[in-house]
Parts: sequence; C-alpha cells; structure tokens
Amino acid sequence: MVMSEYQDIAQQLRTRLADLLERTEVIEDDLRHPLDADWEEQAQDLADDESLEGVDEVLRAEIQQIRLALLRIENGTYGDCAVCGDPISAERLKARPIATRCIKCA
Ligand SMILES: [Zn+2]
Repeated sequence: MVMSEYQDIAQQLRTRLADLLERTEVIEDDLRHPLDADWEEQAQDLADDESLEGVDEVLRAEIQQIRLALLRIENGTYGDCAVCGDPISAERLKARPIATRCIKCA
C-alpha cells in the first residue's frame, strides 16, 4: 500500500507517543522523589514506587511498539504481516495500529 494511506495512522501514533512520553516523565519524577523519613511512609512510598515501575514498563513497551510502527510507515513495510507477509486488514490496523501480524498469524 502507498505510504500516504497511513498518514492518519502515523498522526494518531505520534499523538499517542507524545502522550505516553509525558506520562513516563511524570512517573519518573515521582520515582526520583526522596523517601520520607518516617519509616511507615517510607514503606508505603516503596510500594507505590514498585507499582509505578510496573506502569512505567508497560508504557515503555508501548512507546517502543509505536516507534517501530512509525518506522515501518516510513520505510514502507507498515501493514504487511511480519510472519507471512500478507497485508494486515485495514480494520485490524484501525483497531490496533501497532499490530505487526495479520489475524491468521496473531
Ligand atoms: Zn500473517
């Protein structure tokens, strides 16, 4: 398919990417906060940090997938199944723009 057909998706992905990057920054700021002196609060802070790190990981994984999708749009391989090479259906890409496999191979 012609690259320009994916410009809408590319725009959507860039918007999402900017949003995710902003969120990871907020989380990292939070993780950098010095721990409170009170040990009870310290324990709570640690628990919070652990769940934040989990969120951070999920966001980072999605950021990576979006970057790869944008790269595929640029180099013209976007929309082709990474396994069988068949085109991924437009409906599937619309529902899941970061999909790299067709329905059969997913
Ligand atoms: Zn396939």
